[in-house]
Amino acid sequence: MTQYNWLEAINVNEDMLIKTKQRLPVIWISALDCTGCKEAFTRSFEPTTLDTILNFISLEYSELLSVASGDRVEAHKESIFEKYSGEYILAIEGSIPGSDEFLMIGGKSVREKIIHAAKRAKAVIAFGSCSAWGGIPAAGKNPTNAVDIRAIIPEEVPVALVPGCPPIPEVIIGTLLHVHFHGKLPELDKKLRPKVYYQTTVHMACHRKPYFDQKLFAESYDDEGARKGYCLFKIGCKGPTAFNACESMGYDRCISAGFSCIGCSERGFWDKGGFYGKRKK
Ligand code: SF4
Ligand code: SF4
Repeated sequence: MTQYNWLEAINVNEDMLIKTKQRLPVIWISALDCTGCKEAFTRSFEPTTLDTILNFISLEYSELLSVASGDRVEAHKESIFEKYSGEYILAIEGSIPGSDEFLMIGGKSVREKIIHAAKRAKAVIAFGSCSAWGGIPAAGKNPTNAVDIRAIIPEEVPVALVPGCPPIPEVIIGTLLHVHFHGKLPELDKKLRPKVYYQTTVHMACHRKPYFDQKLFAESYDDEGARKGYCLFKIGCKGPTAFNACESMGYDRCISAGFSCIGCSERGFWDKGGFYGKRKK
């Protein structure tokens, strides 16, 4: 059961809701991604993605979700740079390949496209661990020499990182809505993550923490302790070092399902096992 209230989280009162405000223009560019972050964007419940798009943000461009395609949508994106210069949010999903030939959009490298779009953006928000830290494309031997968003964005452009693989849908929406209602990015921590969502570890809010405190642990995924819902620390749970809001917001899927936290919001999690590798304790 969720205990998340988006109005409280981003400090929005009813007066602010009632006042008509121009929707926040958002341009969403996908680089080396799996579309998982964008799929997460479509799945928010608090508020719903539909409410968000109809009332608060205007998704002007997304290779995956735009109605138009090809030259038309590319031309529309260029028109947004002019019309909403300094007002739109540039959302980035996926890491950026070191060599331009690995990913082109409309005949230009994705790197050029992002740098061009960032110049007149109000702020850049990196959604997902790929754009925030490099993610799976940068893992292992990093065959495309992928880098995170901060490696290519001009220093003067404000940047927020919203890591997770994918991030929690309501965290994606909440970060965008903060900009819509307050005109600026939410307060960020030292790693540029919105404090409201990343200020504590999964462990500190975990519903299994009472078992951790009593030293009651599952020793394997099918033992008696696992069946009783004991703490998963001894089978590799990364909750104690993972800063994310899954448990504090009540949107935990992994630990409730009996699977240990893989720390998907932390830098380098793919090299520490990702989804499929052997759990390292
Ligand atoms: S962060 Fe995860 S969900 Fe998002 S694009 Fe990367 S691999 Fe996909
Ligand atoms: S299951 Fe993981 S996050 Fe939860 S209390 Fe145990 S170690 Fe911490």
